[in-house]
Amino acid sequence: MIINSQKRFFGKKSKVSLFTLGTMRSTESLDQMYSIIKKAHRVGINHIETAASYGDAEILIGNSLKKLEIEDKISKKDWIITTKVLPKGDLNYLKNNFENSLKNLKLRKINNLAIHGLNLNDHLDWVLFGEGHKFIKWIFEKRLVDQVGFSSHGSYSLIQKAINCEVFSFCNLHLHYLDQSKINLAELALKKGMGVLAISPADKGGRLYSPSDILLEASKPFHPLELAYRFLLAKGITTLSLGATKIEDFELAKKLRNSYQKLTKLEINALKNIEKIADERLTSTKCEQCRLCLPCPNEIPIPEILRLRNISIGYGQLEFAKERYNLIGRAGHWWEEKNSSFCLNCNECVPKCPTKLDIPDLLKQTHNLLIERPRKRLWD
Ligand code: SF4
Ligand code: SF4
Repeated sequence: MIINSQKRFFGKKSKVSLFTLGTMRSTESLDQMYSIIKKAHRVGINHIETAASYGDAEILIGNSLKKLEIEDKISKKDWIITTKVLPKGDLNYLKNNFENSLKNLKLRKINNLAIHGLNLNDHLDWVLFGEGHKFIKWIFEKRLVDQVGFSSHGSYSLIQKAINCEVFSFCNLHLHYLDQSKINLAELALKKGMGVLAISPADKGGRLYSPSDILLEASKPFHPLELAYRFLLAKGITTLSLGATKIEDFELAKKLRNSYQKLTKLEINALKNIEKIADERLTSTKCEQCRLCLPCPNEIPIPEILRLRNISIGYGQLEFAKERYNLIGRAGHWWEEKNSSFCLNCNECVPKCPTKLDIPDLLKQTHNLLIERPRKRLWD
């Protein structure tokens, strides 16, 4: 049985469900993609998000949508599709790649196209003045797309510039209950009438489908992931991506398909309880993420590293924090480049911290807590 679900404007041209099906993880086979998309439809999801760089995802989606039309009478027109292109290459390369995406998806035009990973100032320049500019002009002239947006893992100021540049109708951002550093940007984008998609609030948001006992206990009577979803929906975030791999992954999306209203008292109290317990566990060493300690002359991403400390000690999500910490310096422009071991103990950051944290010492502690093998304890 198909159920109704709330739809909201994502930019100006499309209305999407509160959850979006992310397809990076469901690329094992046509059977998997088909059953995941069919289940998404059954829980009221109408928005599929993919990318040319997600392996065979576009081909599998194209074939699944055709199969759904023939076997299940689910029209292709029922779906809003977003795909993404990387910010690189010249006009011909981009045209070829985009035409290939349309062919793979078996579409003549697409609802939304996002610039995938607008992470550097060079990427924004590419969109505004370079080959990206020519490409966007071309796809609009040819009426191949309804609207253009971007996804970004970049800095606050870069995302702010991208939101304000008047080219984009939507943005896909890292917005998480355990990382609220980009929430103001989401609010800015919403105010400008842009659609906002939260990238992976379950997984990249702290692996909340596998919560610590601390989080489970603190968030009662809710599951921590349910609260994290509700926090974002109540903030007005248009849609939350759900990288489903199996049917059970849709449980919360079904339950919350109409839950965009303000937080209830019970939800507020549960969130307060999570913070109270995290504060107690961090014993006055919680980094409040105000970013006033920046810039560090040695480019240490202090708030990002101390956020991982908050997450591992305060909320008990140690394995997630370890994974993120050990990715620093290994993911190019998709994540931070320097971990705590680059701190030179110059102490320049310390007087800038309103919470009076001993930042160099906390950075060392975090390194020793999270660094994986080959384990090098830098400051015994
Ligand atoms: S003490 Fe370390 S983190 Fe602080 S400003 Fe100096 S190098 Fe940067
Ligand atoms: S100034 Fe202090 S509280 Fe603020 S982000 Fe930096 S370390 Fe955290």
